[in-house]
Amino acid sequence: MTQNAKHTPGEWGYKIALGQKSFQVYPIERIKKYNASLAIKDYEAASKWLGVAICHCYGRNLPPDQSAEANARLIAAAPDLLEALKKITDKSPYAEERGTDYCLFCNMRDWQPHADDCPFLLGKAALFKATGEQS
Ligand SMILES: [Zn+2]
Repeated sequence: MTQNAKHTPGEWGYKIALGQKSFQVYPIERIKKYNASLAIKDYEAASKWLGVAICHCYGRNLPPDQSAEANARLIAAAPDLLEALKKITDKSPYAEERGTDYCLFCNMRDWQPHADDCPFLLGKAALFKATGEQS
């Protein structure tokens, strides 16, 4: 994880809320401590470990529908996706070691603009959306 990240450090996980009104995203360590406390039926300790959720994902219905869980799963994966995307886009898309000046993702030459749907460009745009920082 990047040291200067402003978001809650990963890894994140999610669980269905007590009362089943939403899925909640938490740092995974808190969920593990919560589950461990529940395993010994220490409900007071369990609620202490959860604290404030990173987010709540509500569905249209009660109990929450599949989209609420899918949204929670996607949000919980965000720190992992962010790190993977940083690693993918951190290096030049041109494979100098192979002696080529073609983009590995869209096959455009290094003096040409990338294709509009070039995964390298899409990855850079997603990083900007996630961090607000131009890389
Ligand atoms: Zn490209």
